[in-house]
Amino acid sequence: MSKYHSLRGMPDITPEEAGLFKWIEDRARETFRLFEFSEIRTPFLEETEVFVRSIGQDTDIVEKEMYAFTDRGGKNVALRPEGTASVIRAYIEHNWSANQDITKLFYIGPMFRGERPQKGRLRQFHQIGAEIIGASNYHLDAEMIFNLHSVLTNMGIVGFEIQLNSLGCDNDRVNYKKALFDFLKERESGLCENCRRRMHTNVLRVLDCKVDTCKSVISGAPRITDHLCADCEKDYASLKKLLKDSGINFSEKTTLVRGLDYYTKTIFEVVHSALGSQDAIAAGGRYDRLCEEMGGPKVGAIGYAMGLERLIMAVNKDNVPMHKPEVLIVAVDDMSRDHAFAVTNYLRKREIACDMDFSGRSVKGGMRKANREGRKWVVIIGENEIKNGKIVLKDMTSGTQDELDTDSAVKKILGEN
Ligand code: ATP
Ligand code: MG
Repeated sequence: MSKYHSLRGMPDITPEEAGLFKWIEDRARETFRLFEFSEIRTPFLEETEVFVRSIGQDTDIVEKEMYAFTDRGGKNVALRPEGTASVIRAYIEHNWSANQDITKLFYIGPMFRGERPQKGRLRQFHQIGAEIIGASNYHLDAEMIFNLHSVLTNMGIVGFEIQLNSLGCDNDRVNYKKALFDFLKERESGLCENCRRRMHTNVLRVLDCKVDTCKSVISGAPRITDHLCADCEKDYASLKKLLKDSGINFSEKTTLVRGLDYYTKTIFEVVHSALGSQDAIAAGGRYDRLCEEMGGPKVGAIGYAMGLERLIMAVNKDNVPMHKPEVLIVAVDDMSRDHAFAVTNYLRKREIACDMDFSGRSVKGGMRKANREGRKWVVIIGENEIKNGKIVLKDMTSGTQDELDTDSAVKKILGEN
């Protein structure tokens, strides 16, 4: 029984899981390189205001999920619940808009939300996210969605569904919100308490409600896509055509909304049936107002974030090569141990990953360890070998062993003879 435990919803990532994390991150990095995204690493802790201003007061994150506290200097700070706010804060702070160009950034790292932990929902979880900042056009929307599709495909993930919607421009949303509010007002008694409140604070969020009775009310609600102005309608149609022409499958989901108030035009979510009830692996959209609202220049932007723990559920683990230890160096007795240590490090210098049996076991014990770990080679070093300038190399598969000089052994292990 251990005295201390990691906090609920904040599990350790074990060495085995870390291998999977790294493989997924590497696949994402490969794709980001091809699309010329640069990595940004923002701090885990920021002024609370950065998140409140960007994510919005009437959201689950700000209302109840944020780890916010007052630090020793009396400053209100919070552990980042998502990545976009910090990226935009950095974009403005470093004046990256000065180059008048598009800025493409990605990030990978932990996020923190005080949610009720369940499968696929943690309090410390990890996101891989990307943002394109500096302009607003449907080609960039397509670029972002194509990138997301490519990242998932490079991880070998199949069977995901990209759901697409357009929230239109500010004007469209004002009109739509009114139409939606009027519709809901007439059916208020069928809504849950939360939705009756949200109707007044952030009516679009009602579309996102998971309560069955609300869902059935919502199914008959007016659709945002019927309230788009001519420009937004045309943009949305152009995006859909470009995605189709680019071979990207998607479905339209007119009730799709995002939790944040500043989203405009294109939004999307990626779901996967293998994930059970927490079926969203990624979500994102265009947020053309955020930069200006945070005190920066008026530039368009679009981004997405995916949940690493959920990607892990969707990845075929058989595709992920795991590191298998191959070579173990075993000393015959205490006298040979220093020499064995030198040989171990010589092999590493020759790019052979290996370990020495440091436990001081007998050769037999060393062999058992090598067998248990499925190693291919054991290097045995004793007084005799030191005297002759040789080592004994045992092939654990065939059981044969040879006395060789070190360089011949290196060649044999590397398969060079
Ligand atoms: P959900 O509806 O699942 O709560 P969300 O809308 O809060 O998701 P975003 O803030 O858009 O999610 O985050 C993007 C992605 O990050 C999600 O699609 C999901 O894969 C992942 N994610 C979000 N919250 C968690 C969490 N608590 N634990 C694990 N992954 C998460
Ligand atoms: Mg959430």
